[in-house]
Amino acid sequence: MASSASETHTVLNPATGGAVAEVPSTGAEETDRVIERAQDAFPAWRDLAPGERAGLLRRFAAVVDAHIEELAELEVRNAGHTWSNARWEAGNVRDVVNYYSAAPERLFGRQIPVAGGIDVTFHEPLGVVAVIVPWNFPMPIAGWGFAPALAAGNCVVLKPAEMTPLTAIRIGELALEAGVPPGVLNVVPGKGSVVGARFVSHPLVRKVCFTGSTEVGKQIMAGCAEQVKRVTLELGGKSANVVFADADLGKAAAAAPYAVFDNAGQDCCARSRILVERSAYDQFLELLEPAVTSLRVLDPVDESSEMGPLISASQKASVLGFLDDAEVAITGSAPGGAGFWVPPTVVAVDSPDERVWREEVFGPVVAVMPFDGEADAVTLANDTEYGLSGSVYTRDLGRALRVSRGIQAGNISVNSHASVRYWTPFGGYKQSGLGRELGPDAPNAFTEEKNVYIAQEA
Ligand code: NAP
Ligand code: MG
Repeated sequence: MASSASETHTVLNPATGGAVAEVPSTGAEETDRVIERAQDAFPAWRDLAPGERAGLLRRFAAVVDAHIEELAELEVRNAGHTWSNARWEAGNVRDVVNYYSAAPERLFGRQIPVAGGIDVTFHEPLGVVAVIVPWNFPMPIAGWGFAPALAAGNCVVLKPAEMTPLTAIRIGELALEAGVPPGVLNVVPGKGSVVGARFVSHPLVRKVCFTGSTEVGKQIMAGCAEQVKRVTLELGGKSANVVFADADLGKAAAAAPYAVFDNAGQDCCARSRILVERSAYDQFLELLEPAVTSLRVLDPVDESSEMGPLISASQKASVLGFLDDAEVAITGSAPGGAGFWVPPTVVAVDSPDERVWREEVFGPVVAVMPFDGEADAVTLANDTEYGLSGSVYTRDLGRALRVSRGIQAGNISVNSHASVRYWTPFGGYKQSGLGRELGPDAPNAFTEEKNVYIAQEA
């Protein structure tokens, strides 16, 4: 971690509201120095033999693997994540680094037929790449940015969210421990308005990889336009979980809470709108009730906790604001006392104009509405400015395909809610984002494609 800043930020445990750590807030000038150090480290990293860069990334993954428990414990305390989620998240960093450690020797260009010579293409790294990370999934989202960027030969400056910097800072130390050269992966804790804004405006940063709110994402895109800086955006969502009457309703109802209340609903992929075919609506709600009320909402220090607190007091206030005029159908449990707790809540909605149906809540609140037939389901699912993910529950394969193709979203799952695997592409339609992360092509998004023509006769 690089900082000589005197300003600090107190990191809280959201389950208790108590202080966990004091972290430096990097200033603008120090941010510039980190960017310059990353630029200095770039030529040697770029020019490393592909197999050597691959080997260093594999060692990095192995060192992360040896620290899964430590990283998970930091996330339980700093972000209020459950132990099982936090272990999965740390393991995801290891897996993503491992997966992209196979990329350096496979950044293939092409040979394209031409007359009088040969034509070849190269994938060349951009230089310094910035990764700006939100507080909801501090570890995975950092890894999805830095791992393919490093594999493609770039150096990275990474800003964790101000509220959740601890795992990123530790991962930066682990990279050094693994032998990744200094200056290649730089973690810069601090404010979005200072560090993040400098990433956008500094001319040495050649790409910004941003995950967070649509509002800030638009500002980042506009800022990047100034220097025609490359940008990837992963933004908000209001994803639909479409349940047809022919589905296994028991399975669909049992799974629905986990699709929206995981991480206390602070998930851009949360299926926060449940659409149920009218003939199955009442039965579905009956089945949903025990699935919601039995969810174990506990301080995540308890290993059996299935849902923890929200990240902050202001996030809690914002989420509760959605319940003011809502018709609450089901309420689960939550601990009382200190900490930023909201119980899992199901809201019955009559009209797609209701605020809770339209806006991203980013908390444990799901809205349910009936629909009539396949066309109505697709129209309602698409009646949003977002398009990140979605689920379809049906036993009819033809319908599953038609509805999956009809929903304008980047990631659809059928009879499942799994939308993120590191080896498949991930990203949003419409205002949910721009570009794709993960999957086999991610390293190419951190390169320029260069075309070289060589005449046969000198
Ligand atoms: P945010 O403001 O968009 O923050 C995301 C990241 O961007 C943080 O690291 C933040 O730094 C940084 N940032 C903020 N302003 C910036 C700027 N002007 N220039 C560069 N970087 C900047 O999101 P949030 O305030 O944490 O959450 C607000 C809402 O966004 C949530 O309620 C939710 O609806 C949505 N959200 C979506 C996702 C997602 O995965 N798609 C994730 C998180 C939040 P600081 O930490 O210093 O603010
Ligand atoms: Mg913000």
